[in-house]
Amino acid sequence: MNEQTMIRQRLRVTGVVQGVGFRPTVYQLATGLELTGFVGNDSAGVFIEIEGNPQSIDEFVLRLQADQPPLAHIDTIERTEIPPTGDTEFSIVASLRNDDATTLVSPDLEVCADCLIEMNDPDDRRYRYPFINCTNCGPRFTITREMPYDRPLTTMASFVMCDRCQAEYDDPANRRFHAQPNACAECGPHVWLEQDAALPVDDVITATRERIRVGEVIAIKGIGGFHLACDARNATAVATLRERKHRTAKPFAVMAADLESAEAVSDLADAERALLLSPQRPIVLVEESAQSDLDPGIAPGNSRIGVMLPYTPLHHLLIHVHCDDSVVRTAAGEELPIRRSRGFAPFPVRLARAVPPTLAVGGELKATFCLAEGTNAFMSQHIGDMENIETLDAFTAAVEHMTGLFRIQPDRIIADMHPRYLSTRWAQDHHEDKLLYVQHHHAHIGSVIAENQHTGPAIGFSFDGTGYGTDGTIWGGEVLIGDLDGLSRVGHLGVAQLVGGDAAVKRPYRMALSHLWAAGVDWDPELPAVAATPDVEQRIIRQQLETGLNSIETTSMGRLFDAVASLAGVRHEISYEGQAAIELEALGTPDAAGSYEFGLLETDEALVFDPGPVIAAIAADVVAGVPVGIVSGRFHQALADAVVAAAQQIQQRYHIDTAALSGGVFQNVTLLEAAQKGLQESGFAVLTHRLVPPNDGGLALGQVALAGRR
Ligand code: ZN
Ligand code: ZN
Ligand code: FE
Repeated sequence: MNEQTMIRQRLRVTGVVQGVGFRPTVYQLATGLELTGFVGNDSAGVFIEIEGNPQSIDEFVLRLQADQPPLAHIDTIERTEIPPTGDTEFSIVASLRNDDATTLVSPDLEVCADCLIEMNDPDDRRYRYPFINCTNCGPRFTITREMPYDRPLTTMASFVMCDRCQAEYDDPANRRFHAQPNACAECGPHVWLEQDAALPVDDVITATRERIRVGEVIAIKGIGGFHLACDARNATAVATLRERKHRTAKPFAVMAADLESAEAVSDLADAERALLLSPQRPIVLVEESAQSDLDPGIAPGNSRIGVMLPYTPLHHLLIHVHCDDSVVRTAAGEELPIRRSRGFAPFPVRLARAVPPTLAVGGELKATFCLAEGTNAFMSQHIGDMENIETLDAFTAAVEHMTGLFRIQPDRIIADMHPRYLSTRWAQDHHEDKLLYVQHHHAHIGSVIAENQHTGPAIGFSFDGTGYGTDGTIWGGEVLIGDLDGLSRVGHLGVAQLVGGDAAVKRPYRMALSHLWAAGVDWDPELPAVAATPDVEQRIIRQQLETGLNSIETTSMGRLFDAVASLAGVRHEISYEGQAAIELEALGTPDAAGSYEFGLLETDEALVFDPGPVIAAIAADVVAGVPVGIVSGRFHQALADAVVAAAQQIQQRYHIDTAALSGGVFQNVTLLEAAQKGLQESGFAVLTHRLVPPNDGGLALGQVALAGRR
């Protein structure tokens, strides 16, 4: 090598480059090419100084991009020429902190194949060790207290590596070279059984399996929270779990030991199989097959079940457990997120337009928040329904965790306009001075526009159960036009009465009676909804409808689904949000010829979808004995047709060729696919969700995208 040709460059690498085995890869590449210098982490990413001949350095940069570790994702590599120093070796140097930059934290990673082989090998020193990990797998986001991602700044700091673990950590040729959570049974975290603390560690797994097998419910403290687990084939165990969780009907998810066991409960499509096996290991909502041996109590009244595969070593040791995790289903062959949590958080959504440091606190149900700066919008993990102090505390802790991790000190806080949402109150208590509000349905459309990086205008259909409207009534079937500089409401579902407020939400028969009333259809006792309403309650409802007393106006699409579900005799009372609509969709016959039609009325201020003709037609069909599946199929098609017809009318007037679909109602794949197909056939480009959920779990992204504009 000719001394004259030696040069030195400083490289700055950004993206998902920490906690994914990046520095070891750099080390091996550099030493392989006989280059000298060093590599290290700081809070902006990875810094490298590299010295050698120019061809080798070019080769190094090319290979770094081509051969990056499987879980890394390089955004940028910046190269600057600096004077050579005559280094004689390449090394990994201590991490640096700098306070003005953000790097991307990797989500937790499912256990890798190499670690599983070791865990199942009786001769391996990590045989049956539930916290086995390496540079290619293991926890990341949930153990990181601060950046950069280095052991002293993680929750593993208190576990001092034993000699053998330390030797692996220091050996560049080892798979655990600089693996921050590296541990073994001797030096790392261990498992114990709370009821039997004296039980030797080696017997804990066997004893836990046995308890699950005989029908007990076990709480397992795992990565990022507790899982409650029981045998999904055991009716008594499932019933006990429901009783303890006070959850009467909301579906539980099932963890299958492997793909083969998943195939035993569902005939999986290719897209579903790929999602199950994807590194995020989400819960995938799939159709349950006839040969499934799961207890029906897992998901009562639901044709779909949530299935997932194990992702931690502990899961592999204890199988057939239920838990709450990320949830996805497929629509038109593509992924549709229902809940974006473990395995995804805190991956950023890229914004087309930069924003100042912002915290958006989301809504109430399925709460998530979003922390954003520049073009990165970091969506939090799923926090739960913000209805009590526990979730509020979890919310506060998660905000502190993420603001610390990314060093984003928000200049402004965005909340929903609903005065009684706990998230809104939290924002008022903490940050009154920098608070802005974004209306709920605007935020839904903002989120779908933002995640698609769409920069022009769109016709937005924002359909959900509830949301505080700018006029103080409850919205939920809204048509908005505009872009991220501002949206305006140009249409909505016809107004109905929410009689008795919350009671109308819990008892869909009330919504059925309300919609019949609005449509001018008699309460025929032959209708299942009318039959399900006690006489006394009928009199009260009638009185409330006549006087408007104790009743609120609503344009909610979710409540229309409730009304139809009750009218068709599917469900009259619910125990979780969306239950009636989910069951109505599950029963629907595909391709039921459409014979219902919404009225489309142009008033002075808005285009109104009048559900009256649909309600009247359904009532007639039900009395005539038309099967529920047909009624459901026709209703879904009628709503999709109404969306297309409305989009066409608005297009003529405003010349907008893009439609955007968001809000919890679009978790309904039958509706989503029919509306999308109809719109595309009419020449519209259609924006739908792939990154954040259409439900309120995606709200915070839209709040960020729209904040400060309107
Ligand atoms: Zn591994
Ligand atoms: Zn060890
Ligand atoms: Fe919503």
